[in-house]
Amino acid sequence: MFRVGLTGGIGSGKSAAAECFRELGIHVVDADWAARVVVQPGKPALEQIAQHFGAGVLLDNGELNRAQLRTLIFDAPEDRAWLESLLHPLIREEILSSLEQGSSPYAILESPLLIESGQHQLVDRICVVDLPESLQVERASARDKNHKEQIRKIMAAQLNRQERLEKADDVLDNSAGLAELRSQIEILHQRYLLQAASIQN
Ligand code: ATP
Repeated sequence: MFRVGLTGGIGSGKSAAAECFRELGIHVVDADWAARVVVQPGKPALEQIAQHFGAGVLLDNGELNRAQLRTLIFDAPEDRAWLESLLHPLIREEILSSLEQGSSPYAILESPLLIESGQHQLVDRICVVDLPESLQVERASARDKNHKEQIRKIMAAQLNRQERLEKADDVLDNSAGLAELRSQIEILHQRYLLQAASIQN
């Protein structure tokens, strides 16, 4: 199946763009959702994480305490590497099987760290939602009621705008309103339909 990776920095408008694709009938898989599924209670990965880091990494209801895990690996590169080598292949499998479950002519993988995580290897094209970094900070802080400093810290851990654009096959300019975003997506959608049809023939 023809697959498009949809990415962009924090607050760039990935979710808004993904919603437009959904409205056009396109199957969208959310990489963040896949990352949560693989560590749900009952999944072997959660047991392995609890064994490695101790039961303190679980909440009272048995779910993963993500904030605690983030703190534990923050200054511990070996533990971080261990966790990534456990989770990355599982997330990849979950994404691939979820992408297969769709029946639309092509599928979208929405992932904030598509390129950084190597998930771009799972898709045929990379579509970047782009906007000036100042607007990104403004929209993300308005949405999350977060301090701008906090948003800038998250941005520093992601690719910068230029690096991301260099990897893009397609760019959605989200500096204007949602109607403008939607009309760019309608045009891209027509191109993707043609590309999907051409790889099937
Ligand atoms: P994150 O990676 O942080 O989850 P995201 O890339 O999915 O972010 P969205 O949540 O889609 O970004 O958008 C960020 C905020 O900006 C939201 O509040 C959204 O409603 C708003 N937004 C998105 N696109 C536009 C637009 N074109 N005009 C105005 N507001 C927008």
